[in-house]
Amino acid sequence: MNYISTRGQVPAVSFSTAVAQGLAPDGGLYLPETLPDLKPHLAAWSQLSYAELCEAFFAVFATDIDRAELHRVVERSYIHFDHVDIAPIVELDADRYVLELFHGPTLAFKDFALQLLGNLYESQIARTGGRISVLGATSGDTGAAAIHGLLGKEGVTTFILYPDGRISPLQERQMTCTGSDDVFPLAIQGSFDDAQTAMKTVFEDREFADEVGLSAVNSINLARILAQCVYYLSAYFRLPEAVRKELTFVVPTGNFGNVLAGWLVQRMGVPIKGFRVATNQNDILHRLFQTGRYELEAVAPSVAPSMDIQVASNFERFIYYAEGRDPARVRAIIQTFKATGRYRFENFDRESFTSSRTDDAQIAAIIQSVYERYGYIVDPHTACGFSDVGGGKEIILATAHPAKFPDTIQAAIGQDSTHPSLEALKSRPIIKHSVEPTPEAIKAFMRARVS
Ligand SMILES: *Cc1c(COP(=O)(O)O)cnc(C)c1O
Repeated sequence: MNYISTRGQVPAVSFSTAVAQGLAPDGGLYLPETLPDLKPHLAAWSQLSYAELCEAFFAVFATDIDRAELHRVVERSYIHFDHVDIAPIVELDADRYVLELFHGPTLAFKDFALQLLGNLYESQIARTGGRISVLGATSGDTGAAAIHGLLGKEGVTTFILYPDGRISPLQERQMTCTGSDDVFPLAIQGSFDDAQTAMKTVFEDREFADEVGLSAVNSINLARILAQCVYYLSAYFRLPEAVRKELTFVVPTGNFGNVLAGWLVQRMGVPIKGFRVATNQNDILHRLFQTGRYELEAVAPSVAPSMDIQVASNFERFIYYAEGRDPARVRAIIQTFKATGRYRFENFDRESFTSSRTDDAQIAAIIQSVYERYGYIVDPHTACGFSDVGGGKEIILATAHPAKFPDTIQAAIGQDSTHPSLEALKSRPIIKHSVEPTPEAIKAFMRARVS
C-alpha cells in the first residue's frame, strides 16, 4: 500500500516514509492511495483483543513493515493502559453509551496514537540507525502524550515548547516530572502562538534539521489517524449487536483528527450509522456543517482548551474525499481559504455528519446534569458531546479523564475528581528549562543537548 498527498504534487511513498515525514513535501497530508475494504475481515477481527485488532488493522496499511516487527511495535503500545479493555464502553442508559478513551498514561485519547508512534519511531531507528530529535509545541495534552509516547525510546531526544504559566498545573506536571534525561520541557515567556511560530522557523532551517535529525509529532501524522481508527472498530465489535448499527458516534472535535478516523472506518465498509461533530464555542466546524460556509474567526479560550482551534489541520483530508479526490481542487480551496479566511462549499458530501456547539456555561451545566442523572463525571471536552440535540441513540467519545480538569469539575459539581497517576505527580520534582521564544535560542539549546 502506498500513500499519496492531498495536494498531489509529490510521488506516492511507503507507509514508513509517510510516517517519518509527517507532512508531505508539497504541504499536503498523506492518505492511502486507495481505501481498503474491511468487510471481508470483520468476522475474523470481531473476536480479537485490542492489541491484536490494532496489529491486524495496521498489517493492511503498514505493508513495508514485516509482521513480526509490527507485532513487537503494537504489543508494547497498549501495556501502559490501566483498563483491560483498553477502550472500555460504559452504558449510561438504553440510548447513551460512552467510549472511554482516557485510560492511557496521560489520561487523554491522544495516548492511543502517541504510544504507538513512539514505538514506530524506535523501530525505524533500530532499522536505519541514527537518532532523532523531536520538537513540538503544545498548549497541553499533545505535549504530555508525546513525551510519554517517546519516553525511554532509544535514540530519541524530545523537546516540547509550551507557554509558561498558561497551561494547567497538572498538564505541566505530566511533562516536567518524568525524571528522564532525554526529555526537555521548554517553558517560554509568551503565548502558544509564539511557541508555534518559533518552532516552525526552526523546522525551516534544513541544515539544522539534518544536523540534529529533526522530526515532528503533530496531529497530521498519518500513523496517528490510523491508530485512532482502531478504537472505532473495537467499539463496533464490543457494542451489543442489536444497537451497533443504530448508534451515532459523537466526537468532541478540535483538529478533526479523531472524527476523521471514524469516518474513514465507515468509508472502509464498517456499517457505522454516522457522526456528530461536537465543538465548543470555537465552532468553525459546526458552522460549516450547518451552512456549508468555512469561515475563520478568532479563537476564544474555553474550559475545553484542547478544542480551542479554528483552523482544523486534518480537515484537508476530508476535503480531499468530499471534493471528488481531486488534488487540484484541494489546492484551490486551501489557497482561497488561506488568502481570504473563508470558503463556501457548493455541494460537498456531508451526508454522514451532524454537528453541535457547546459554550462554557453549557459545559458546566452538562457536567452537573450528567452527574446528577447517571452518577458519572465527564471532563469539559467530553461534556460537549452531551449537548442535547434530541437525536437518537448515541455513543459519546470520552476524550479525557475528568481529573485532568479539577477546577472545572469542582465548580460544576462541588466535588473533586482525582486519579492516582496525577496524585503521584504532585510529589515529584518539576524539571523544566527556560528558553527565549526565538529560533536561535531554541536551536542553541537543542544543539547543546544532542551533540
Ligand atoms: C486533542 C483533544 C480533542 C480534539 O481532538 P481532535 O482530534 O483535535 O479533533 C478533544 N478532547 C481532548 C481532551 C483532546 O486532548
